[in-house]
Amino acid sequence: MKLGFSLKLVLFFIVSALAVGAAAYLLSDFRLPFPDRSSSLETNADTLKYKTVIIDAGHGGEDGGASSAAGLVEKDVNLEISKLLCEMLRADGINVVMTREDDRLLYDRNSDYQGRKKKLDLAARLTIADTTPDAIFISIHMNSFTNPKYSGLQVWYSPNDPDSSTLAGLIQSNNKATLQPENTRKTKVATSSIFLLENTTCPAVLVECGFLSNPAEAALFETDEYKQKVASMLFDSITEFLEKSTDV
Ligand SMILES: [Zn+2]
Repeated sequence: MKLGFSLKLVLFFIVSALAVGAAAYLLSDFRLPFPDRSSSLETNADTLKYKTVIIDAGHGGEDGGASSAAGLVEKDVNLEISKLLCEMLRADGINVVMTREDDRLLYDRNSDYQGRKKKLDLAARLTIADTTPDAIFISIHMNSFTNPKYSGLQVWYSPNDPDSSTLAGLIQSNNKATLQPENTRKTKVATSSIFLLENTTCPAVLVECGFLSNPAEAALFETDEYKQKVASMLFDSITEFLEKSTDV
């Protein structure tokens, strides 16, 4: 049988297309999965500058911190947000150290602590920050003021490591973008009134998540939904910071 030139050309293309298709099918089994965002921290684990997130739930035990008119106590809100944040970070493969996981101050019950509980507690939190290698420190608090009109999250940062203000800026701007578009607060460098930020040497921030003295904002923190939203915003900010902070 004698095939015309154009028919040969058509057959040639059909056979070529089948061959390319077969090769692509075989190779597809050996293709590496494309990394998604959630695994990028683990993929880049060796080059990450910071390996651990220390979450510091402010106050505890005898020291309740601020409280709302309706009776919401700061130490409890701090711990709940801290636990939610810890859960999300660990689920993402990030190493987390919690300064406290229950309702107590950190002081040695066998020591001479009378009149020194708060001082010993802060010293213990600072020791955790100082002795954890390659860590960043996030302290979780709630604000309060005599005039109830003030509201809005605000982040303070340590003066001792320039990365502190970078992390603070990410949290402040992510909060504005996702939770509080009306919030015009700026990050602030800590003064000596914030013992932990003054003394930590690793990147450290203190997040005043909202004002318990403002009835409307305090009511938000009564709900699990809003605490979850704040924790998610902190999670996004921290992972963004960790991904950007590499040794190379
Ligand atoms: Zn506080």
